[in-house]
Amino acid sequence: MTTKEILSQLQEEVSKNDYERYLKQLVYKKSSSSDDIAVFEVTNKFIANYIKTKFSPIIQEVFEKNKNTKPSIEIKIAGERRRTTKEILNQKISNDTSESTILNQSYTFESFVVGNSNKMAYTASKAVAEKPGVQYNPLFLYGGTGLGKTHLLQAIGNDAIEKDRNVIYVTVEQFMNDFLFSMKNKNLEHFKSKYRQCDLLLIDDVQFLSGKETTQEEFFHTFNELHNANKQIVLTSDKLPSQIAGLEERLKSRFDHGLKSHIQLPELETKIAIIEKKSELNGIHLNKDIVQYIATNLGNSIREIEGVLIQINANANLIGGDINIELVKRVLKDQIKETKENIKLIDIINVVSNELNIKPSDLKSSKRTKNVVDARRTVIYLARELTHNSMPDIAKFLGMKDHSSVSKNISKANELIETDENFRLKLENLKNKIINKDY
Ligand code: ADP
Ligand code: MG
Repeated sequence: MTTKEILSQLQEEVSKNDYERYLKQLVYKKSSSSDDIAVFEVTNKFIANYIKTKFSPIIQEVFEKNKNTKPSIEIKIAGERRRTTKEILNQKISNDTSESTILNQSYTFESFVVGNSNKMAYTASKAVAEKPGVQYNPLFLYGGTGLGKTHLLQAIGNDAIEKDRNVIYVTVEQFMNDFLFSMKNKNLEHFKSKYRQCDLLLIDDVQFLSGKETTQEEFFHTFNELHNANKQIVLTSDKLPSQIAGLEERLKSRFDHGLKSHIQLPELETKIAIIEKKSELNGIHLNKDIVQYIATNLGNSIREIEGVLIQINANANLIGGDINIELVKRVLKDQIKETKENIKLIDIINVVSNELNIKPSDLKSSKRTKNVVDARRTVIYLARELTHNSMPDIAKFLGMKDHSSVSKNISKANELIETDENFRLKLENLKNKIINKDY
């Protein structure tokens, strides 16, 4: 059967909407298929998952009718490029003793959004991929969880493989398992030659070396040999070398020796750019208000944001409608509730006083100078928006006599949001900092 034949039969079986939105995209891969398995391609993973879960039986029926077979349905993502022989060999090397991670092809420099928070790390990673072992060795990328360390590390790997270099990417966990496995099987020579013949060694999450003495010992030797041979080493961690408890001094000093690059929490602008990029990559259309809403209401872990995008898309698919702000609010409801429970009035006071350079005590006083009045209004608005406190609670906290002025302040703030773009932007940045606990 051809794609065309299959599609024309599917079209009869499903709604117009389902056909136009999803099934129409299927491309049948005859050469990869057999009686037991029918392989299709589409362009994005959400659509792939959706078709697989919802339409597999219908697709199977088409095969049953026409060919009297009942293959299982496999939906692949098109454009996942074929790996070069070099890559496959590479993976063989790193795969043959025990588990080893295959690089995620979508973690590239192109798909990484650069902003102030990660510019340094990005630039250093690019430099290392360009000229391994020359400039920064080791390169030590560190920062909070979900901020793109693994993405950058693998981007270096993907780029180096393109340039025909020999790359090993492992997490510390895998390095350790690999090592212990070789010890047990008395095959250490093999382990050593595997790790010591690479051009780039990329080790993820080195904070987990903590307390693993035997592994640290072996890692120290691997590190030295590679370093002496001017091979590139890149490490990631959620903290600085000096802060990793239970890490030998000599390793700390090795890690300290190269370039340490901090990936910081993304500013609102970068967060927005990342949301736009991720939705574009996944073929989801979100309007500006929705992007803004997600960016200002979710924490800074990009992983969490990606999870939410997937949920939003899945929900939109299920109800068969477009993605609108109400849907997004519904999907985010629980997450936002949890965020609110973690924000205290004092956090808001602290952030606002810090950012607007006003003393906390002034915010709680009856002072009426313009900058204090403005800042107090900001606190009140954010308190209402970001916490579960009632107006009387807020009034009490700020030492105000009654809550009618709280409500007046909120009305005024709402009015300014509509009319004063600067005020709105300032509010959003403050909100971002508070939600991200970036203070
Ligand atoms: P970490 O290793 O720091 O915990 P990851 O590298 O696994 O974080 O990133 C989590 C997710 O967020 C990944 O899917 C990654 O692609 C995405 N991500 C993080 N930062 C960026 C960025 N600047 N641009 C695009 N995607 C990003
Ligand atoms: Mg990681």
